[in-house]
Amino acid sequence: QVIRCRAAVAWAVGKSLSVEEVEVAPPKAHEVRVKIVATGICRTDDHVLEGSFPDVEFPVIPGHEGAGIVESIGEGVTSVKPGDKVILFGLPQCGECSFCLNPDSNYCVKSHLSEPQNLLPDKTSRFTCKGKQIHHFLWISTFAEYTVVPEYTLAKIDAAAPLDKVCLLSCGFSTGYGAAINTAQVKPGSTCAVFGLGGVGLSVVMGCKAAGASRIIAVDINKDKFAKAKMLGATECISPRDFKQPVQQVLTEMTGHGVDYSFEVIGTADTMIAALASCNMNTGVCVMIGEPPAGSTVPIDPLLLLSGRTWKGTLLGGWKMRDSIGKLVASYLEKKFNSDLLITHTLPFAKINEGFELLRAGKR
Ligand code: NAD
Ligand code: ZN
Repeated sequence: QVIRCRAAVAWAVGKSLSVEEVEVAPPKAHEVRVKIVATGICRTDDHVLEGSFPDVEFPVIPGHEGAGIVESIGEGVTSVKPGDKVILFGLPQCGECSFCLNPDSNYCVKSHLSEPQNLLPDKTSRFTCKGKQIHHFLWISTFAEYTVVPEYTLAKIDAAAPLDKVCLLSCGFSTGYGAAINTAQVKPGSTCAVFGLGGVGLSVVMGCKAAGASRIIAVDINKDKFAKAKMLGATECISPRDFKQPVQQVLTEMTGHGVDYSFEVIGTADTMIAALASCNMNTGVCVMIGEPPAGSTVPIDPLLLLSGRTWKGTLLGGWKMRDSIGKLVASYLEKKFNSDLLITHTLPFAKINEGFELLRAGKR
């Protein structure tokens, strides 16, 4: 039972997405076919279209922030059944590798950084378009009305959850919020700086606030982002362009010796160095979230670390997604956080390129 439906295909690097009719094959063993109800657009998808990930093969159906309903299941699938509401995630949890077995890690060896996810685990694709095989992205390809994914890239959520809202928990919100709560483990009364106020950076602001930070300094060159950042918990907002001296110096002067926690949510070498130097020289913790262009290097003065600073990174905010997503959705339903405030536009699927234009224009 092949399903014919629409999907947004990226045919080649540098081209905008093209909404096409595709055929989606049924799920094989340990796979699930999902009707995607809502998907978010993350900057990472734009990086794919620009060709910043040399290991992503074209043509490809991008998208890695999505929620939907199980349509059918392959042999051996036990955790979900047709009709279940699910959230998909771009960082799997196979449950069997040494990292999955380690309670302190959320990095699964089936992640794209260890194993390319351009095809399903059996090295074949479930998508065809105009007779051509189309690649998968991060095993979930959410820019399609139906997608087929390995069972370990999704989890069932509460049937009461509004899919058009909780789809943000699939990547952007969970990444930012978890970076503060899990990766940095922000302490009450502490001082934080967040570089970059896109959907992910604003979620970091929410996480710092939830953790009880007393001062949250939001940094962006786009001042249109400041009002939302303040609404979500930022206590001060600054633009590096308003100062002659480097922003790390500004932040150090504002806080005495630098912040307790800094977060880089942009993905450039300059802002990574600035974020690292903005946290205090001894107990400061800098968390890298932004994705640098593939192959880039960041020159740093080793003395920045020798005095005691900690520099760490996070994938999806440190959550073991299959274990955590149901709980995050429950917290959303209990109104422990309001991720709805991050939603700037809701568009029909056919207008997906308009969504990318809004992203590039800094309007979301
Ligand atoms: P976004 O493009 O919406 O937001 C980036 C923000 O940074 C914008 O508001 C922009 O104005 C600001 N900015 C750009 N240059 C700046 C500068 N020099 N100084 C200060 N501010 C500057 O992006 P997003 O969707 O929020 O994603 C942020 C980053 O996080 C991306 O690199 C994305 O790939 C990455 N990401 C990582 C993970 C992970 O698991 N680690 C998950 C999701 C996204
Ligand atoms: Zn694993």
